[in-house]
Amino acid sequence: MNVDERKRMSEDIKKYAINVLGVDVVGIAPIERYVDCPPEFHPKRLLPNPKAVVTMGLVHNPDMVQDSNIYECRSAIDSHAIDTENLRAGYRLARYINRKWGYSSGATGLPVHLPAPFLREGLKDIKEAVKPSVFISIKMGAVLGGLGKRGVNDLLIHPEHGAIVRLVSVVTEAPLAGDPLADFNLLCDECKGMPCITECPTKALSVKKGDPYTMGSIDWQKCFNFIGNEALMLGKPGCLQCAVVCPHSRANK
Ligand code: SF4
Ligand code: SF4
Repeated sequence: MNVDERKRMSEDIKKYAINVLGVDVVGIAPIERYVDCPPEFHPKRLLPNPKAVVTMGLVHNPDMVQDSNIYECRSAIDSHAIDTENLRAGYRLARYINRKWGYSSGATGLPVHLPAPFLREGLKDIKEAVKPSVFISIKMGAVLGGLGKRGVNDLLIHPEHGAIVRLVSVVTEAPLAGDPLADFNLLCDECKGMPCITECPTKALSVKKGDPYTMGSIDWQKCFNFIGNEALMLGKPGCLQCAVVCPHSRANK
């Protein structure tokens, strides 16, 4: 397949994602961009011979996550709805690539973060519980596919939508053409008070230096304990505070 054919196939797949599946954003990362990817997050975990990762995203409804009267569970309502839509979109895009273009493809979305040990044994050690079940990093797929950068909140920050984008990735053996990497001014270095860190109820976030993939580090044990246990007991499932308070997210209201 020559360069023009690869571009034509890539454009067709992105058009299908936007026009038929209704996602808000889509970006393609060729596999060569995963050169420094830790093996536990590499797309090879999903397919033996991946050539590209297509990452799609839906944006939270700002009225629900920022201003809703039902503050207690605003993020959970929106998150569950979007994760369901994303999973469906991932499944359908993988099937489309396979049927129309003839390449093996498979999708992975956020609910794979709820692995069997998590459900069976609770949250004793989230590292052991999560790692074997997370097939690839969808946030890495988003950054390498040109959808944005990863801030101190360790989330994807999209230049237009900020940190309130939820993601799903499709790993494919189709040799797709990559989108340019995002080029915009991430505000983290000059962010007054870094509200993502200070307003996190569990103090799970910290600045990370020297990592090409992210500016932030998250203690998943603390975060998951809160959103999975304490927040549920308090009647406040979901959190999203680190996404909502980010000035990049506020800018899209
Ligand atoms: S709140 Fe500030 S420091 Fe945190 S991710 Fe957003 S811009 Fe970066
Ligand atoms: S979701 Fe909530 S608890 Fe988890 S890191 Fe973000 S602000 Fe902290």
